[in-house]
Amino acid sequence: MTPATATQTFKILAADKLAQQGLDWIAAQPDAELVNKPGLSESEYAAMLAEGGIQAMIVRSGIKVTREVLANPGDLKVIARAGVGVDNIDLAAATEKGILVVNTAEASTITTAEHAFALMIALLRNIGPAYKTMTGGGWDRSKFQGRQLSGLTLGVVGFGRIGQTVAQRALAFGMKVVAYDPVFNSPTALDGQVKMYNDFSAMLPEADVLTFHVPLNDATRGMLDDEAFGRCRKGVYVVNAARGGVVDEAGLLKALDDGRCGGAAVDVYSSEPPPADSALRVHPKLLCTPHLGASTKEAQEAVSSDAAAACLAYLRGEGIKGAVNAGGLRVDLNDQQHGFVDLAGRMARLLSPMITRGVARVEIELAGKELAKAAGTVERAAMVGLLRGHLDDPVNMINVADVAQRRGIKTKTAVIDEPTEQGPQLTIVVHGPDGSVDGKTHPADRTRRIAGRVYDDLKPRVVEINGYAMDMTPDGHMVILQNEDLPGMIGTVGMAFGDAGVNIADMTISRRDTGDGKATALMVLKTDAKADEALVGRLSHTPGVLKIASVELPG
Ligand code: NAD
Repeated sequence: MTPATATQTFKILAADKLAQQGLDWIAAQPDAELVNKPGLSESEYAAMLAEGGIQAMIVRSGIKVTREVLANPGDLKVIARAGVGVDNIDLAAATEKGILVVNTAEASTITTAEHAFALMIALLRNIGPAYKTMTGGGWDRSKFQGRQLSGLTLGVVGFGRIGQTVAQRALAFGMKVVAYDPVFNSPTALDGQVKMYNDFSAMLPEADVLTFHVPLNDATRGMLDDEAFGRCRKGVYVVNAARGGVVDEAGLLKALDDGRCGGAAVDVYSSEPPPADSALRVHPKLLCTPHLGASTKEAQEAVSSDAAAACLAYLRGEGIKGAVNAGGLRVDLNDQQHGFVDLAGRMARLLSPMITRGVARVEIELAGKELAKAAGTVERAAMVGLLRGHLDDPVNMINVADVAQRRGIKTKTAVIDEPTEQGPQLTIVVHGPDGSVDGKTHPADRTRRIAGRVYDDLKPRVVEINGYAMDMTPDGHMVILQNEDLPGMIGTVGMAFGDAGVNIADMTISRRDTGDGKATALMVLKTDAKADEALVGRLSHTPGVLKIASVELPG
């Protein structure tokens, strides 16, 4: 995405009721205009977007951003969820339309960790039942003897933002902390204070208290069930402020009844709200809250201003925060990195017309560790450049990974620390499908390769196409022509352009031996006007011309 111009004003639609702090924040931005319209119907939002002019939309969980709402999204570039869960947004539809979806998970991290911690203390000190006894006129001190946190071992399941925040607080309370997270590659965490496990079963017997901070997915659904309770310490305490269903509710109730679980505190349920007669509401050893994890004044204010800030940062080209559907894409790049993203798009567009037998695999190599941050963005720009001309569907930086995956195209991007002798370099290699085409094998046609650099002047340069060395700036109207290296070819080509009234502004010629004592040449021409189909068609039938393609690149 190119950075916005200073004079541009972005219209931000608040489609759910947002905390005042977020609305005030938008109003204070010189380049933002707030359209505060919560509570409309889906069809009204659809019509509003289709009219155009709205670049960002902020939602909470009240509105459903369906495929119908996004059918004609007008100028919409980004949807921000003020909060975490994006179940109310049709991510596939947004991705297809090239709309970035972000959430504001960080804004509720501390708040949710504090709630999990509050649940843990309340559970171990019987705050809930003791309060109930008091309000009922009773006074029972012996019945509510609790457990001291200090000295107990806390098992944190899911060591992401919230899990780590809970762990820090537990350490401050003198607890021993162990944690399980399969995506954590170190034996310890938090300066060696937390022992990490990558086997859930192995961690279970270590913990006096288990606290869950994982997303709900196929791997985590019911991960603490009847069987897993069998591997826990007898009387283990359980806290779930993650997602309902992570702790199997039937298994939990059974373990509470038979004493394998000493008590549980639950904020989230597999069905919300749970039925009025659910045992989860009334079990004497279960402390329940109605999904209050992120419900603090601070978090609600932070999610709305964070959502607005995330929208504007993206629209201004400053950065992407909390992306849900654009892994690897960055806009906060330096000039050189931006230069390589631009170069990737141009190189891929040059290569694109030479790909006539399909794309199976794309390998991208960046030489120079200073380009590492841009790797994901370079990959997306290259894929957009390669695919755009071949597909009817619109392809853009947000949906390209999805489009490529749906077509079975594999991509691999590698960053090599050392730049080339001439400086950092980008190479794109496109492999066609294996095997024969039309009963013949075309080994030379199956692989296309292009390499380029961005020097200190920040101009893009192509230094090689399919083994032909060159130094050329890829911009404007371009024609790539491969021919047998015969006398008179340059004149023939020049005449054809002259006859068509197309002026050649620049020409680069590179030769390559074909290994049989002959050579072929690649001419890259820049013209003042587009070489039309008639000219390209005529040249393609000229003796000695092997291939020709015309490409339009930004000036
Ligand atoms: P996060 O993405 O930062 O962390 C999640 C962690 O879970 C990651 O480190 C991931 O590697 C780990 N994980 C994934 N699969 C796992 C598995 N099979 N076993 C163990 N660990 C696994 O997310 P977060 O911001 O820390 O949020 C954690 C959870 O809390 C989310 O489910 C979120 O929806 C929930 N949450 C609840 C409330 C609430 O109101 N109760 C509020 C905010 C967040």
